[in-house]
Amino acid sequence: MMLGLIIADYWWFAIPGILLGLYAQMKLSSTYNKYCRIGNARNISGAEAAREILDAAGLPSMPVNEVGGHLTDHYDPMKKALFLSSENYHGTSLAAVGVAAHEAGHALQHRASYTWLHLRMAMVPITQFASMAWMGIAVLGMFMGMSPKLLGIAIVIFTVLALFQLITLPVEYDASRRAKEQLFRLGLVREDERPGVSKVLNAAALTYVAALVTTALQLLQFIMLARDRDRS
Ligand SMILES: [Zn+2]
Repeated sequence: MMLGLIIADYWWFAIPGILLGLYAQMKLSSTYNKYCRIGNARNISGAEAAREILDAAGLPSMPVNEVGGHLTDHYDPMKKALFLSSENYHGTSLAAVGVAAHEAGHALQHRASYTWLHLRMAMVPITQFASMAWMGIAVLGMFMGMSPKLLGIAIVIFTVLALFQLITLPVEYDASRRAKEQLFRLGLVREDERPGVSKVLNAAALTYVAALVTTALQLLQFIMLARDRDRS
């Protein structure tokens, strides 16, 4: 993604996004590594926590599946199913129940017809198209230079991507809010375990903030480049 931009003017616009992204990744892995070693008091697994939350929310038939990979946990709104990575599916750590509850939080949003989740889902196809289109534009730009026309297209693409990442923020923060609410309401996590769960979920959310900042700064770079071209 960055390759075509490094050689362009305002390349330094990318630096804060890259630094924040690195920081967010480091913060997430150190926080996750810490709290995936601390067992929760009730000794329940992520899968069990998710199951209890879904059952309590009137979603007893929603499957909780195990999926390969590290931190690949997600809710699939098309399949209406939860997918938890093996370590969170089987794990009985604070991190495991926190992440599992967060994914269940997305299912609760779906059930409650949470506006931002629906907006985000509606934007998925156009965002996928924009990401693919950018790959073509970036390659063209690298070989031919960013013409005013390519810059215009890049601005449209990055506006779409930034909007998508902006809409993702309330979805992610609200899923964590719902997760914590249910964990404590159902007594899955004790009061003294609250800070640990919050830290894991906040660290995960920071990666979404970093992604937005990175995209917004790239958009700004293209806008500045286009402005300069207009003047010359
Ligand atoms: Zn999420």
